[in-house]
Amino acid sequence: MQRLIFMGPPGAGKGTQAKIICSEYKIPQVSTGDILRESIKNQTKAGLEAKKFMDAGDLVPDSVVINIIKDRLAEADCKHGFLLDGFPRTLDQADALDSLLKEMGLGLNAVINLAVPDEELLKRLLERAKIEGRADDNEETIKNRLLNYNNKTFPLLDYYKKKGLLKEINGTGKMEEITSLIKKELN
Ligand code: AMP
Repeated sequence: MQRLIFMGPPGAGKGTQAKIICSEYKIPQVSTGDILRESIKNQTKAGLEAKKFMDAGDLVPDSVVINIIKDRLAEADCKHGFLLDGFPRTLDQADALDSLLKEMGLGLNAVINLAVPDEELLKRLLERAKIEGRADDNEETIKNRLLNYNNKTFPLLDYYKKKGLLKEINGTGKMEEITSLIKKELN
């Protein structure tokens, strides 16, 4: 059974690799970004609260995403493992996840970090903006998301390194090569 966290800056290919790994290990991909986008579409309370932060490239308040994760991990399909994609993104979220997993009597197998240099990320994200037309993929919000990543999420690498869970992966190669590097770390 695999209980995993996928980390990495926006544009590192986290979502793509997460999908591949989830289908191979038959575990659900739990993406707070996807859940929030769905909540906005359905105009739920959490969605309405999150929208202004997401549109600006800011992080949604911890309490909102922590509640989302609490509810999602309690669902039946997470019983046999899961992959967290885009959560935690702050130290408070990581602490909340620790407490939640402790309460549930569960542990993590690994934290995978996909590392890609900033210039490459900016290039990839601007390209994706053209193709997908995501509301938060314009140059100004992209730069803000990278800034937020560096200030608030990057410190989590050290947090998980100290717990002996961090696996660093070079995220700049071909998609299949990166997948096989990840699988090597997990097996
Ligand atoms: P993503 O699809 O993971 O790039 O997330 C898109 C946006 O959703 C982010 O820029 C944040 O505004 C918000 N978001 C997703 N996950 C989180 C999280 N764990 N904490 C705070 N905000 C989040």
